[in-house]
Amino acid sequence: MKSEKLEIIESVFDRVNGKYFHGEVERPVFRVSNRMKRRAGQVNLSRWEMTISIPYHDRYGWDGELENTTKHEIIHLFLRQTGKPSGHNKLFREIANRIDAPYYSREMPQTSFRYVFECPKCKREYKARKWIGGRYSCGKCSNGRFDKRYILVIREILR
Ligand SMILES: [Zn+2]
Ligand SMILES: [Zn+2]
Repeated sequence: MKSEKLEIIESVFDRVNGKYFHGEVERPVFRVSNRMKRRAGQVNLSRWEMTISIPYHDRYGWDGELENTTKHEIIHLFLRQTGKPSGHNKLFREIANRIDAPYYSREMPQTSFRYVFECPKCKREYKARKWIGGRYSCGKCSNGRFDKRYILVIREILR
């Protein structure tokens, strides 16, 4: 039986693929990882797999942030499928800009948090080790894209 998370990942992939790549990117094998803690996701181009970090998305959300991760990873797949260099190169950046995909994952906390930010609308809290003011909008309210209206605001400074 397929896990619920894999089904979510699959449907997000299909949606992103359809919306930005005419559905032309070949569906990878989807995997989830509990051990992947520093990165949001990764692709294995020889096995044609896309692996999604569970801890990362437990922290940043399985909605908008998963879409961001998928947008990033699908660019790698698209580049490979079309015979182009598939790393974090100039072309990657161009596509990322065009479809509003993140170039980097958000940083995962290694130690304790220093800041608590919150969404101005839904009040969901986002803990951070580094100052992230002005750079992120609420994943839940922004629906997967950066949205100025929901830029996180600082609520607490922990140390
Ligand atoms: Zn990448
Ligand atoms: Zn929100």
